[in-house]
Amino acid sequence: MNKKFYITTAIDYIDDVMHIGHAYQKIVADVLARYHRLMGEKVFFLTGVDEHGGKAEEAAKKARVEFKEWADKISQANKKQLQSLNISFDRFIRTTDQNHEKTVVDFWRRVEKKGDIYLGKYVGIYCQGCEGFITKKDLVKGKCPYHPTKTPRRLTEKNYFFRWSKYEDFLKNLLKNHPEFVLPESRRNEMLAFLNQGLEDVPISRPSVKWGIPVPDDPDHTIYVWFDALINYISGAPKDFWPADLHLLGKDNLRWHTLLWPAMLKSAGLELPKTVYAHDFFTLNGQKISKSLGNIIRPTELVKKFGTDGVRYYFIKYGPIARDVDLTLEKLKEVYNADLANGLGNLVARVAKLCEIYKVHIGKSGSYKFYPEISEILGKFRFEECLKNIWEKISNLDKYLDQNKPWEKSGINQTINWVNLIEGIREIAFNLQPFLPKTAEKIKKQFQGPKIKSEKPLFPRLK
Ligand SMILES: [Zn+2]
Repeated sequence: MNKKFYITTAIDYIDDVMHIGHAYQKIVADVLARYHRLMGEKVFFLTGVDEHGGKAEEAAKKARVEFKEWADKISQANKKQLQSLNISFDRFIRTTDQNHEKTVVDFWRRVEKKGDIYLGKYVGIYCQGCEGFITKKDLVKGKCPYHPTKTPRRLTEKNYFFRWSKYEDFLKNLLKNHPEFVLPESRRNEMLAFLNQGLEDVPISRPSVKWGIPVPDDPDHTIYVWFDALINYISGAPKDFWPADLHLLGKDNLRWHTLLWPAMLKSAGLELPKTVYAHDFFTLNGQKISKSLGNIIRPTELVKKFGTDGVRYYFIKYGPIARDVDLTLEKLKEVYNADLANGLGNLVARVAKLCEIYKVHIGKSGSYKFYPEISEILGKFRFEECLKNIWEKISNLDKYLDQNKPWEKSGINQTINWVNLIEGIREIAFNLQPFLPKTAEKIKKQFQGPKIKSEKPLFPRLK
């Protein structure tokens, strides 16, 4: 049986259509999904939207649209955004999907049966941006560090609570004994430090939020949006894919995924995911990307300008995999022209032209493998290194051409080894597949032999 690989992304709230800040994670997940498929594994790639919670409810009200209509609209729009980036998800889950709602109710009952749910009263603060019950210790200058423009709300509510505190030791051991469970390592240390302050039980229902899944046997409450959303990882994939191999998410979602989710799973008697990887964020021209700052850019807008693979290349190479990164459109254009129009695009055009002029006849393409380094560095989430590696091969071929100058020689004086040159390009195309799938496909087709012809430039230069 083939090895399986189950990868998930965070599911986005539907208070607004996704922007380029959300897109980074989807692109990186797509690279991994495509890579594992090419390795012959059985892959399931899950993404989608979180349609519940107060944030979505308020957005629909503000837009004066029926909730269902709002949810349909944003979900469709998000899907379109993902498609513009060529994201090869196997399922786009909506937390209003029937099978999800049923799975959540079943999950609740399992946790309840374990004795881990009780009715209580919450007096504290809540960040609507995070949809999170937070504590004073979390605040920076009185605001949530991830939502500095929003004032956290004071809440006094009757809620159902989850006995989170019961799992404190379990979680400490999990993080200590399984360093691969939370990556990067700095995030694991952050979560261990949080655990060391002691865990308090957490509400898992809301009495005032209408848009949610009703609590079994108490429809005055809906299930807290995080308790509901995390379960999408189980309801979203065919049964035999659980446990997930990788949950990919932003650092703002870390606590729920690395501390609440494993405790919930343990309580329900289910297996834990293998790895949770939290990346950092893009800023745009030095500013946080946010609706309130009015600087949101959608993926489709970037794709229009730079093409799908132009955007993918930049995000994969310069994205915030392990630290915050500032994005500017000038830099994107610079990199596009240097690495894609000149680097890759120019090499492919040059070789194709030479093949055409010298009427090169070549055997059809065979089967290819990833460069050995790719597998190793991809496993370490070093996406930028993978591209550097491929671009080294590109520049080697460029050098080979410059040294041999085939355009100055003809017939018997020709020193170029056409087979090596063309096989080199074919290997590059194979290795590019997870990263720039459309471009890889075009090159593969152009160089499949026996004849090779010039085509339109892969990346027209941007002025
Ligand atoms: Zn927040």
